[in-house]
Parts: sequence; C-alpha cells; structure tokens
Amino acid sequence: MSTSIDVSPATLLETAYAEAQQSLIEGGIPIGAALFAADGTLLGRGHNMRVQNDDPSVHGETAAFRNAGRQRDYRSTIMVTTLAPCWYCSGLIRQFDIGSVVIGETRNFQGGEDWLADLGVSVTVVDDPRCVAMMADFIDGNPGLWNEDIGVAEETDR
Ligand SMILES: [Zn+2]
Repeated sequence: MSTSIDVSPATLLETAYAEAQQSLIEGGIPIGAALFAADGTLLGRGHNMRVQNDDPSVHGETAAFRNAGRQRDYRSTIMVTTLAPCWYCSGLIRQFDIGSVVIGETRNFQGGEDWLADLGVSVTVVDDPRCVAMMADFIDGNPGLWNEDIGVAEETDR
C-alpha cells in the first residue's frame, strides 16, 4: 500500500489513542482522532462526545477537524482515527479533500475506508492490537451505546 505520509502512522496514532482513552475516562465512547499536517505537526485532536455532550454529531474525526480550525489546504493533511471512519466521517474526509487517513483498526467496524481509497485517498490501517481490544471491550460492555453510535438504534442503555 503506497502512502505519501512522511511520518510514522503508528506514532501519529498515539495521539488518537490517547483521545480515545480520555473519552473512556469521561464515560464516553472510546473513539479518538487527530488531524496532522504532512510533516507531523498536530493541527487538532478530539474524541467522540455522544455521551458527554449528548450530541451524536461529535465523532472523533469531526471533533479533531473542528479543533483544528480553518486550514488553507486539506489535501496535505492526515486524519488519524482509532477506528474505521463511519460514513459521516468518511463524507467529511471526502468533502474537504483530506489526502491521507490513518486508521487504528478495522476489525470491530468497517466504514468508508475502501470508498475513500477508491477516491484516491491514501489509507493506512495500522491494525493496532490496543485499539482492537479497547473497542471490543467497550462493545462487549455497552452494546446499546455502540448500536446507537453506528446508527442501529434498537436498544439503548444510556
Ligand atoms: Zn464517524
């Protein structure tokens, strides 16, 4: 898999992972993200705030994106997320023409990663075992919250 990223995806993932852990501490869904410049400069970071803010529109990626403020050029930026981006966040990546995406894992959830790759986005899956375990544990303990987050609002445990 080719990539234009000149910094280690695993290193970039550390910031997103720390955000996911922070969300867990806050009682929220452990999905974190960060937006970086091509040289590895952090532009913004954030995590899912569905529970904390009672706001289903704040995903890890959208939080990081908003915290980065206005950027002149998104093509050179890297969106890093602990879990495969959902359609909502894949749409954001597409809308702003973010050039690269680094994903912690795609085992617990598959989103728009193939669609993005087909559109020419550089997609790197780190397959980090900590990210896999973090999400699997959360889904196990909070199936209702998880279903709500991926748009399957049958049961709810909040
Ligand atoms: Zn999302």
